[in-house]
Amino acid sequence: MYFRYSYILSLNLNYPITYIKGVSVQRATLLYTELGIKTCNDLLNFFPFRYIDKTQFYQIKDLQPNSSEVQIVGKITRVKSVAQKRGSRLVATFQDATGTMELVWFKGQKWIKDSLKVSEPYVVYGKLNHYNGNFSIPHPEMELVTEYKKKLQNKMQPVYPSTEKLTNSGVSNKLMRTYIQYLLQQVYDQIQESLSEEIIDDYKLMPKRDALLNVHFPKSQENLTKAEYRLKFEELFFIQLQLIRKKLINKTKIKGFVFENVGENFTDFYQNHLPFQLTNAQKRVIKEVRKDVATGAHMNRLLQGDVGSGKTIVAFLTMLLAIDNGFQATIMAPTEILASQHFNAISELVKDMNLNVDILTGSVKTKKRREIHQNLEDGTLHILIGTHALLEDKVKFNNLGIAIIDEQHRFGVAQRSKLWMKNKMPPHILVMTATPIPRTLAMSVYGDLDISVIDELPPGRKEIKTVHRFDSNRLSVFKFMRDEIEKGRQVYIVYPLIQESEAMDYKDLMDGYESVSREFPSPKYQISIVHGKMKPADKEFEMQRFVNGETQIMVATTVIEVGVNVPNASVMIIESSERFGLSQLHQLRGRVGRGADQSYCILLSSFKLSAEAKTRLKTMVETTDGFKIAEVDLKLRGPGNLMGTQQSGVLNLNIADVVKDSKILVAARNTSIAVLQEDSSLSKPENLNIKNTFVELSKDSKIWSNIS
Ligand code: ADP
Ligand code: MG
Repeated sequence: MYFRYSYILSLNLNYPITYIKGVSVQRATLLYTELGIKTCNDLLNFFPFRYIDKTQFYQIKDLQPNSSEVQIVGKITRVKSVAQKRGSRLVATFQDATGTMELVWFKGQKWIKDSLKVSEPYVVYGKLNHYNGNFSIPHPEMELVTEYKKKLQNKMQPVYPSTEKLTNSGVSNKLMRTYIQYLLQQVYDQIQESLSEEIIDDYKLMPKRDALLNVHFPKSQENLTKAEYRLKFEELFFIQLQLIRKKLINKTKIKGFVFENVGENFTDFYQNHLPFQLTNAQKRVIKEVRKDVATGAHMNRLLQGDVGSGKTIVAFLTMLLAIDNGFQATIMAPTEILASQHFNAISELVKDMNLNVDILTGSVKTKKRREIHQNLEDGTLHILIGTHALLEDKVKFNNLGIAIIDEQHRFGVAQRSKLWMKNKMPPHILVMTATPIPRTLAMSVYGDLDISVIDELPPGRKEIKTVHRFDSNRLSVFKFMRDEIEKGRQVYIVYPLIQESEAMDYKDLMDGYESVSREFPSPKYQISIVHGKMKPADKEFEMQRFVNGETQIMVATTVIEVGVNVPNASVMIIESSERFGLSQLHQLRGRVGRGADQSYCILLSSFKLSAEAKTRLKTMVETTDGFKIAEVDLKLRGPGNLMGTQQSGVLNLNIADVVKDSKILVAARNTSIAVLQEDSSLSKPENLNIKNTFVELSKDSKIWSNIS
């Protein structure tokens, strides 16, 4: 008894929630398994997803059919029971100075009828119904104005995310409110400010304590907005701080090979063998890369460029820089087809130069493989192109200077770093992707990479004409194909292949192949078919026939999606296009429009289209700009689903939303850069709050573990 006060001294934010009044062990377990809430701090950071707004009062004349929950002051003028087929209902006529509506009850009618006071002013609140031009509120919350005035009103009530299990076990929203209210009372004084005074002043941010208080129990809409802004800013700020710090550390701590010479090969190629004039965007990116690799820092750069924007030549020139400085270079591609295309393209580029290039994929025979291993180890092989096969232990470079990774979303971070392990020092890394990621998102996902963008297509390309046709128009599509083939062009027909319905999809593909074969009979027409179930050698064979122009039509699944380059192909027909995602459609369309001829993309679909599918197809018809398409995709699906971002823990945000809050993201990012520029170790006294929070967050490693 003597020690009682010291026991209840205070609740610590790190305590489990069982320390909160009313939270039993069973409930705590449930809150943990259902919502992941373990500590008091977790609960404090468990935010409402909406609020019941009782700050506003409506007048009856202002009610709209789409108003949801409304609060009105008025009087009951009449109460009556109305008989219905199924039971009866109690109806009260309710009016204010501006109009009349109804309050309706189905349950507890007798008791309610007795307790209602006619002609006395009430505050009523509830969900508005609109039927036949009349407004009503079923089962409203009601309070006499005299009572209402006596109480201290909590005017915006939080509504917390919940689950069926929780509700069934009696953990109601009201109970959650009680817990959090209790918690806030206990810990309010302990809540530490996490940002510096300067940042708080600059952005006029609400102090942390008040922000937490107001996000749970806002005094007004205005306070809520401020609280949310503050918490979003903070969340994004610390993520950016982490990413940018990592980038700085990589820059200063991880040494990179220095490619100081722009030597023989680069100069010779640039002056004598460039097959075309580089676009300004290509020149700019090469400059950016050269700057990186000349400094002794380690390059970790993402190269974004739409399909056909000419990333290959940039990769090649980068490799020449490495070779000129006595290093080897490699390109890793996600598929055999793509690897061999790179191999062919690079072989063509080096044909007048004295350089050795080879390719290593799963299908390379043992003898050849041994030879490659040997040449790689003794350094006679300058450039090795390949697939995952490059990651095998037997593959040892003599001195790998740069690794170029194509279509990065197919490779995990762990795989990427496997290339590093093979070396004395990590090679420079250039990750190439044709998936355009909107800038704000790229910032938050790849904040630790430098980003280069090729935002200009080579000159002379005609814009691809895109149309949407229903399946019933197939005959005219066939006619169009015939005309194009007559002109010497080639045609792709792509079928969806979605894992869950694989068997069905293959049937569709084979049926499609058959009907195309009937429509385009040999020997006049030759058709290639490529799909994932074929042996690599067969795939390669079929692909090669198409590349060589021996076949006019390529029937395929999405295996041809990435990187394949057949300039003479001018028509891309996508079957069941409503089943593809936007970025995939865009990738597929990028297979055509690579030559000088006018190219076409025909999106075939059934009549039955979801609203989202309609938007996707419409977007494809309207624009060929990959960044615009990515923006739409982002809006439709949210950032978590964008290609290349799936594994990114950065997007599991608690309160901020990288799409909607992109302005806050930019502000938070700039602020974190400014802070680190002045105080990279966060050791200045004015940054103490930031440092403490940063250290605390870093302990909670799940937030950071997924960042590459
Ligand atoms: P991607 O960025 O999709 O990998 P590629 O590097 O395969 O694009 O280039 C697509 C096509 O454009 C290739 O046929 C390539 O030779 C050609 N190309 C690239 N850059 C230029 C340029 N500056 N001028 C003309 N053609 C170019
Ligand atoms: Mg490419």
